[in-house]
Amino acid sequence: MDCLFCKFVAKEMTPEVVFENNEVLAFKDIAPMAKIHILFIPKKHSCDVGDMSRQGHDIHALFSALNTYAEQEKLSENGYRVVTNKGSFGGQSVFHTHFHLLAGEQLKGFGA
Ligand code: 5GP
Ligand code: ZN
Repeated sequence: MDCLFCKFVAKEMTPEVVFENNEVLAFKDIAPMAKIHILFIPKKHSCDVGDMSRQGHDIHALFSALNTYAEQEKLSENGYRVVTNKGSFGGQSVFHTHFHLLAGEQLKGFGA
């Protein structure tokens, strides 16, 4: 399957990895939208959150990894935003489920 993020998981290509365990890989976004912009991906391929849910993949490992990273980097005190995009209206451009962690500054939009 020609999936960029699966290539990262398989180490055929190497992004700037900041966190990894058996289930999850996290790396810096190539085009950051905030001072800190990390992508968290499940290592098992699914196209988006809908597909992930349909396949019965467990989301807990991903949020546990995200929380571990946020605590480790001391992001929890000031806070952060987690975003996932699905499909065309959602603005998804890479079709391997991923969650954007945005932090490091006051974020705009969504009521802020
Ligand atoms: P989406 O638009 O699908 O929600 O998010 C895809 C994200 O992947 C974008 O923020 C984009 O900058 C990031 N991205 C695309 N290609 C690469 C790449 O080769 N390396 C890294 N580190 N991020 C990428
Ligand atoms: Zn994939």
